[in-house]
Amino acid sequence: MRKNIVAGNWKMNKTIEEGVQLVKEIKSLISEKQISSVQLIINPPFTHLSVLKNEIANSVIKIGAQNCSYESSGAYTGEVSVGMLKSIDIDYVIIGHSERRAYFNETDEILLKKLNLVLESGLLPIFCCGEVLSQRDAGIHFEVVRQQIENTIFKLSEDKFKKVVIAYEPVWAIGTGRTATSEQAQEIHKYIRNLITEKFGSTVASEISILYGGSCNAQNAKELFQNPDVDGGLIGGASLKAADFVQIASSF
Ligand code: PEP
Repeated sequence: MRKNIVAGNWKMNKTIEEGVQLVKEIKSLISEKQISSVQLIINPPFTHLSVLKNEIANSVIKIGAQNCSYESSGAYTGEVSVGMLKSIDIDYVIIGHSERRAYFNETDEILLKKLNLVLESGLLPIFCCGEVLSQRDAGIHFEVVRQQIENTIFKLSEDKFKKVVIAYEPVWAIGTGRTATSEQAQEIHKYIRNLITEKFGSTVASEISILYGGSCNAQNAKELFQNPDVDGGLIGGASLKAADFVQIASSF
């Protein structure tokens, strides 16, 4: 069954101590609000994963990495492999965040390699796609997103594809305070689900969670999440404050 998901992308923020404190606060707020209809995921920096994996034990929170290497092992100084992530038993890996595409030159070809490695290890990818402002202004955002999807997750086998969580993140909305309107989000999420229907059929399409990301916060989450094709959010800035993150998770 399709899941509602709220995933926090901490990016390069928080020391380990601060991260432990944030998770403790999230855990205590969740138990007060009795959140049950949503899967909560935190994606802290690599250095924090082991410690925070222990911190979330026996809670409803799952944990993911923000990235992984496109190679499985070897002479790749500074990289972290999927096998290493698997060895500490994490659940998810974010693949193709726009910051990785823009600042680290991650191409669709690289992302497809990562997707295959993640899925073959039994971890679950949160795959990001989305257009930049000039593409939205030129009215080519549907085409851009279609190409990003066709070059990557549509090249996976159906069995692998079914495990992917998609995050539509218009780049112009990430960290800018400018959110897509509820209508803009629904329109493109529906478009993505229709593409999946054409490619893999309506049963697969109805099972895939499609998250919205881009300045989603405690104030606008409810309006975004009420859309039939918006199954939650990938949250950057607002995931760094426990009260905001839990409020977003209570917005279904
Ligand atoms: C993100 O980094 O995935 C994101 C959506 O960031 P923000 O919520 O800060 O816009």
